[in-house]
Amino acid sequence: MDKWDVIVVGARCAGAATAAFLARAGVRTLCLERSKLSSDHVLSTHYVQPPGMDVLDELGVGTRVRELSPPSRRPMAVMEMEHIYSNYADGRAAHCIRRFVLDPLIQEAAAQSGATLREQAKVVELVKEGERVAGVVVETPSGRETLRADLVIGADGKDSTVAKLTGVERYEVFTLDRAGYWAYFPAPDIWWDREHYDCDGIIAFEGDNLRYVFQCDDNLLLLAAVPPAAEARSWGKDHRERLQHALEACELTAPLARGAQPVGDVIGLLKYESFFRRPIGPGFALVGDAGLTLDFVTGQGIAQGLLNAKALAEAVVAGRDEAYERYWRQRDADVMPLFLDAKRIGSVGFNNAFTQLLFRGASKVGDLDSFCAIMDRRHSPFELAPQSSLFRWVLGDVLRLRFGAVKPFLEMGKTLGEHQKLCDEYSARAAESAEGWDQLPAWPMDAMGSLRPRPA
Ligand SMILES: Cc1cc2nc3c(=O)[nH]c(=O)nc-3n(C[C@H](O)[C@H](O)[C@H](O)COP(=O)(O)OP(=O)(O)OC[C@H]3O[C@@H](n4cnc5c(N)ncnc54)[C@H](O)[C@@H]3O)c2cc1C
Repeated sequence: MDKWDVIVVGARCAGAATAAFLARAGVRTLCLERSKLSSDHVLSTHYVQPPGMDVLDELGVGTRVRELSPPSRRPMAVMEMEHIYSNYADGRAAHCIRRFVLDPLIQEAAAQSGATLREQAKVVELVKEGERVAGVVVETPSGRETLRADLVIGADGKDSTVAKLTGVERYEVFTLDRAGYWAYFPAPDIWWDREHYDCDGIIAFEGDNLRYVFQCDDNLLLLAAVPPAAEARSWGKDHRERLQHALEACELTAPLARGAQPVGDVIGLLKYESFFRRPIGPGFALVGDAGLTLDFVTGQGIAQGLLNAKALAEAVVAGRDEAYERYWRQRDADVMPLFLDAKRIGSVGFNNAFTQLLFRGASKVGDLDSFCAIMDRRHSPFELAPQSSLFRWVLGDVLRLRFGAVKPFLEMGKTLGEHQKLCDEYSARAAESAEGWDQLPAWPMDAMGSLRPRPA
């Protein structure tokens, strides 16, 4: 085919999902991937939150994901050994499935929906007609090739080539002050003993350190240590031993790692930025990490990429400028609270006298299901615990002549106020872009702007 309706660059969770949704709508879609398909995607701890599972269900792969990986319904957050348990709502669960298992399922869904997938096709240049992107130049094992399309979608990850070649701007850029390593360990029997571990996932704050336990497919546990970035960088060639040491030094992870050998490589990430990019422009759009890279600490990237894929496909099918504008603005408004929440939780200073007090207070009250509800996007991250409780706990401390929590409490209040203001600004822009949308006539499939659907 010499010209496609849409070329999607990148065939992982965002790209393959976008291609699947577009192909189902009759859009002639080519999805290009620079690596060999089914290859592993190393830089992800791949905890898929329930809203991501919803999209996987729509793609027809949710059932298979549930068969292959155990559900996480009751994660535990720990700070200095104060435990907070949380439960997802009935029928909701997260799944942690390795990317070389998950991604092929989505790629298969794209192919079955009618999209054409090509591996080992690396986009190196964009074809332009004036200002408008009109196609791509790919490098393949048999040489260079030019492919044309009405729309090019960059689903090519945080270092997106499409974004770089279009020069699209980034905003709300934030450098994470943590970095870390992780590895897969065979799950020992003690992990499944709910008298010992009354949870099915762990995020643990201890001093400046952060550790994770996720149960994955194939009866493996993903164990991660995420210290301050400078410390992780100092591990260098000894990172395997240092990871083992960090896991054995924590009371929660020690029984899971002691005397065990990781299965496969120890994987690390030493520098990370989270940011938004303007995801639309003449002849192109961005989806997934290419358009919005979230701090990995709260594990929202995959769900976001999948939700984004669906929203972008709807905008493409609507096929007019207002739809793309709405895709952009609504994405920012929806994600900004989570983006800022991850920024707060992920920063090294999050473990302080006030958050310790919060953990202590909350752990006495019972399960804190608002934590899971936030991850499930059903509850505002600004309301983890009722404000009245926070005041009471801080006041109780002050009355006992303990003042350490007061300063971080006031600082957190100030930060939350600023973050709320920012969220309101983004929501106002989204509302503006949606104005009059309801009054526009329904856009028939055979009149999709410059996109021509394949006849049924
Ligand atoms: C350390 C770490 C831990 C994480 N943990 C979690 C977690 O627990 N839960 C979660 O939800 N998210 C997590 N994330 C985030 C998650 O991995 C990403 O949000 C997700 O992978 C984004 O998917 P994507 O499809 O947009 O991009 P990617 O998965 O990055 O895929 C992009 C694809 O594009 C291809 N590509 C790139 N350039 C080109 C080109 N020029 N031509 C052709 N193809 C190209 C690449 O080969 C790649 O296959 C984590 C991220 C990191 C770094």
